Amino acid sequence: MHEVSIAEEIKDIVIKNLKKNNAKKVKRIVLQIGKLTSIVPDALLFAFEVISKNTPLENAKVEIETIEIKAKCKSCKKVFKLENFEYQCPSCKKTDFQIIEGREMVIRTIEMEG
Ligand SMILES: [Zn+2]
Repeated sequence: MHEVSIAEEIKDIVIKNLKKNNAKKVKRIVLQIGKLTSIVPDALLFAFEVISKNTPLENAKVEIETIEIKAKCKSCKKVFKLENFEYQCPSCKKTDFQIIEGREMVIRTIEMEG
């Protein structure tokens, strides 16, 4: 389950931020996960709950938002959402494009207290 190592990574980043801000507890974390990552949100939430025990992250509310897959056509430069695995540009119908969003995982918000 690679969600555990991802959760560990998030925990490290959040704790670093916590120290930088002299805060003691994390109230809320908002994560954005691209649809092209293989991260399963429920598995990540579960992993997070387990690894945050007895850390400043315990009981923090974790919210997950999904990032849609966006591509840019190499011919006409149109940016479009990739849906239903329709792999062609909606405007010029070419299939030569670049994925520009959807592969990333971002920590968007960390709310701290104390
Ligand atoms: Zn195009």
